[in-house]
Amino acid sequence: MKLLVDFGNGNTQDPAIASAILETGIAASIERAMMEEDGGWVLLSVEDGEEERFSAALAKRGVASRIQTNSVVYNADECVDCGLCTSLCMKHVFSFDKDWNLVVDADRCVLCGRCAEFCPQRALTVQK
Ligand code: SF4
Ligand code: SF4
Repeated sequence: MKLLVDFGNGNTQDPAIASAILETGIAASIERAMMEEDGGWVLLSVEDGEEERFSAALAKRGVASRIQTNSVVYNADECVDCGLCTSLCMKHVFSFDKDWNLVVDADRCVLCGRCAEFCPQRALTVQK
């Protein structure tokens, strides 16, 4: 399960993620990060079932986080099955089933936004 960690308060010097891993013993890996001088966010992959406990350990350090689900919203009514998104997405979120219907595995998404930007039908929206 993914956890979106918000460093929007500018608290980028404190090693909150590392110390939460040490305190809880929960395995967490960084899938994607966006950091600037005044803050940013980190998308973590956290052991299934441990998201709430890890989030609480971050909160103790003044860092907000939330479970990230439904990262990509797919509007099948707009899609024309062109397949562009299947080649654009580096995380293999999109594929076709045996009937050539688009299948979206949104849990794999790392919020890069590329699919939403380039879908010719505007059939995809990325939520974060
Ligand atoms: S790029 Fe857009 S229109 Fe093309 S298959 Fe993907 S969602 Fe459908
Ligand atoms: S936002 Fe990026 S990682 Fe997520 S589905 Fe789109 S292309 Fe793939």
